[in-house]
Amino acid sequence: MNRIFNFGAGPSTIPLEVLEEAQRELIDYKGEGLSIMEASHRSKMYDEVHNEAISLIKELYRVPNDYDILFLQGGASLQFAMIPMNLYMGGVAEYVDSGSWSSKAIKEAKIQGIDYRVVASSKDTTYDRIPQNIEFSNSADYAYITSNNTIYGTEYHEFPITKAPLIVDTSSDIFSYLVDWSKVDMLFAGAQKNAGPSGLTIVIIKKELVARGGDTVPTMLRYKTHADKNSLFNTPPTFGIYILNLILHWIKKSGGIEQIAKNNQKKAKLLYDAIDNSGGFYVGHSKKESRSLMNVSYNIKNSDGTNNSALEEKFVKEAIEAKMIGLKGHRSIGGLRASIYNAMSLEGVEALVNFMDKFQKENS
Ligand SMILES: *Cc1c(COP(=O)(O)O)cnc(C)c1O
Repeated sequence: MNRIFNFGAGPSTIPLEVLEEAQRELIDYKGEGLSIMEASHRSKMYDEVHNEAISLIKELYRVPNDYDILFLQGGASLQFAMIPMNLYMGGVAEYVDSGSWSSKAIKEAKIQGIDYRVVASSKDTTYDRIPQNIEFSNSADYAYITSNNTIYGTEYHEFPITKAPLIVDTSSDIFSYLVDWSKVDMLFAGAQKNAGPSGLTIVIIKKELVARGGDTVPTMLRYKTHADKNSLFNTPPTFGIYILNLILHWIKKSGGIEQIAKNNQKKAKLLYDAIDNSGGFYVGHSKKESRSLMNVSYNIKNSDGTNNSALEEKFVKEAIEAKMIGLKGHRSIGGLRASIYNAMSLEGVEALVNFMDKFQKENS
């Protein structure tokens, strides 16, 4: 076997045992004589996979009963448009701008011509932190945040308390810690970072919010359409939901989301310690108090504090030779980024830290 360590931001690494199980079942799913990919979405065989995925999310993420769990398509990006379409009620929609993905969500509110407000932003400091003193108004139609900023490597360690329904884009940190549902009214994620392959979007939404989407919203873009039919209004992304199901089983076997969160703390500490103990050779992009446990964005510095992009390029190239891919930072900030989602092993992070140490010795 020739598996490498994949630090890519998404699509990203999937647990090996999940891939092996999918491989074992690919041609003949549990003796049914066909692949789950070939099965009707109305068949009993598929129905079990679909409903088990929903009940595992409920169980592992401790989702209360007054929420619907939906499987949609169009990526997290379609949610940027569906949220104002369904949840705006003629008042004001409020957003925190903590990075590129929030900005894209805000742009969709603007396109729809609704009244929206940006209540806090960290744009002035290149999104190096979660904005402080976030104040949503009580009467807003909804309050919107991005829990983990995949590009800049920042993450909320606590969600704001709001009177207005809180909507959270968790595309890059879903299932990585337990959520306080008393604060959250809707949470969504493209599956391809922490929960499976691309092509599947998970939406967990309070039933009372589902009811808001009126008849003027196009059928496929209405949450109610999908909630009423248990996400089987039309053909859902069946294979993606099957892989999600296997990943949820893997989370359960790993000790649940509580244990996964502990593992994530440990992995992130190892990597941030390596950065902090490098004497300024490696410097993290995020302010310490806003550091993401999922995406670690950092630079290699010259002694005068400027970025050494030539050395960063060399780092990425030599890392690939050492079987570690995906470490090039996002084009908007450059530098390096290691995505260490749930499925990245401690062993992978250790290999990266050892490589960083060796690279520094050879190049400083
Ligand atoms: C990747 C990402 C998105 C976009 O996801 P798509 O499924 O590609 O539309 C949105 N928000 C966040 C936080 C992301 O990391």
